[in-house]
Amino acid sequence: MKDVIIVGGGIAGCTLAWQWHLQGKSILWIADDTVASSHVAAGVFNPVVLKRFSPVWNAQEQLDLLFPFYTQVQSYLSEPLLHLKPVWRRLHDEKERKTWTRKSMREDLDNLMVTNPIDDSIEGIEAPYGYGMVNHTGWLDTNVYMQGSFEYFKKREEFELAIFDYAALNINKDHVTYQDREANAIIFAEGIRLPENPWFKNLPLQGNKGEILIIKCAGLKLDQIIKSSVFLMPFKEDLFWVGATYDRDYIDSDATEVARDYLISKLDTFLKIPYEIVDQKSGIRPTTVDRRPFVGNHPELKNLYVFNGMGSRASLVAPWASKLLFEKMYTGTEMPAEMDISRFQN
Ligand SMILES: Cc1cc2nc3c(=O)[nH]c(=O)nc-3n(C[C@H](O)[C@H](O)[C@H](O)COP(=O)(O)OP(=O)(O)OC[C@H]3O[C@@H](n4cnc5c(N)ncnc54)[C@H](O)[C@@H]3O)c2cc1C
Repeated sequence: MKDVIIVGGGIAGCTLAWQWHLQGKSILWIADDTVASSHVAAGVFNPVVLKRFSPVWNAQEQLDLLFPFYTQVQSYLSEPLLHLKPVWRRLHDEKERKTWTRKSMREDLDNLMVTNPIDDSIEGIEAPYGYGMVNHTGWLDTNVYMQGSFEYFKKREEFELAIFDYAALNINKDHVTYQDREANAIIFAEGIRLPENPWFKNLPLQGNKGEILIIKCAGLKLDQIIKSSVFLMPFKEDLFWVGATYDRDYIDSDATEVARDYLISKLDTFLKIPYEIVDQKSGIRPTTVDRRPFVGNHPELKNLYVFNGMGSRASLVAPWASKLLFEKMYTGTEMPAEMDISRFQN
């Protein structure tokens, strides 16, 4: 009998797999290899909302868990997973410089925002009003995370590359049976495919399409993640990640010319050296009406859990939220009501 079955192979499913494994539990992890939001994500984690200069919900608690969690996971993988890079928010005018300084002194932000704007120049980037620097930021290589995790758990015979067949799940009072395997519980982490799940399909998940560009810019030497109207992030060698768009009214998940033009127009406002577009990617973020994850268990079927709605911050939220779910399942600890799916019970 396994402790848990996990369904879904994106950032959410990977994080559950490691959370359970690192705490000594046995898993059966089932995921297919469809390209999803997690394959497109730059994996940036950043504890400040850079539009309004406010802290992300529970940012400090999430950061406190993020670093030890991914560092521990990294020790099992053959490639680097966590890349610590400062985020430099390009300031748009004098007023914004003043707002940055003022907000950075707030008690809930002083550990996250560096007070004095930076006036260093970066060759190729126009920033007449300088930058505000955010602490405790970086990016998670999501493809290394997923591929490395699949391989690790496959070797342990705890991973199966397959589409989960909902009809093959039998739910008993104290355990579930999937085909010929038994487990104490099952957690679904299917991202935007949540509506296919017979037990959790009514949760009000909203898709939000995002597109990014990968550019090649040989002349740009960047050791920071620049945030202006779009992110510009050093990726590999001369490659940089530019994104992203947000679109709730999408028709399909394909890359579009409209998004490409939008990203180029925003990038050209501050990147002043030639570059070449080498790729464009798109995906659908699993977002929620109240911007809080969907975590918790089915109101009647106590062995069925959901872990979804990571929005645009999966790499920051998932280690923290998965730990709280683990504690809820094994010690009965309450989770923050804002993310518990019982908020939709009525
Ligand atoms: C353009 C873009 C940029 C982004 N940038 C960032 C960023 O910088 N930082 C950040 O933190 N987040 C970012 N995000 C958001 C992030 O990608 C999502 O929050 C995250 O990927 C959601 O992960 P998930 O595992 O819940 O869902 P998904 O990524 O959708 O993964 C779910 C997986 O489960 C599989 N699955 C579903 N149903 C089944 C089934 N029945 N059987 C088997 N497998 C199944 C799917 O095929 C999929 O592989 C970005 C998103 C986009 C689109």
